[in-house]
Amino acid sequence: MMKIAVVSDTHWQPGTPLPKVLQLIEQQQPDLILHTGDWTSLQLWGYLARIARVQGVAGNCDGAEVVSEMGLLRLVQADDVTLGLTHGHLFGTAELTARRAFVGQPVQAVIYGHSHVPMNVVEDGVLYFNPGSAFRPLGEIKRPSFGVLTVNGAEISGEIIYFDK
Ligand SMILES: [Zn+2]
Repeated sequence: MMKIAVVSDTHWQPGTPLPKVLQLIEQQQPDLILHTGDWTSLQLWGYLARIARVQGVAGNCDGAEVVSEMGLLRLVQADDVTLGLTHGHLFGTAELTARRAFVGQPVQAVIYGHSHVPMNVVEDGVLYFNPGSAFRPLGEIKRPSFGVLTVNGAEISGEIIYFDK
């Protein structure tokens, strides 16, 4: 059993207050944290890494340093589940990117961001999960959010957690 916190599109700038989502992730006591890009500053990685191990990818708003450090595509193994991580800007929209980025690869979940709109759907046995943005929410609900994935052997399920700024 693994609990994974997922956060995306934090767009955090050093010198501004730390994102509230850090406390909320810490309260979840996750085994692993995934960040799907648009960090803006990799300093946030350091704060997340104090809570749990962090894996992530770079987004379109990230500089060359973040891209070379994190890459644009990543496979993460959690128990018996293989997760594909990508930001969501590689193939047009975030939704299209999520469905195209790992074609032909045995992933049970695609974790992405970019649209700032949460998504938590299973299609053809694959979980497509976007935690939304902890910084600037878009879409109908427009509340900041992050995600929690629960992995139990080969089973994975996702939950979007909304909060107020
Ligand atoms: Zn983006």
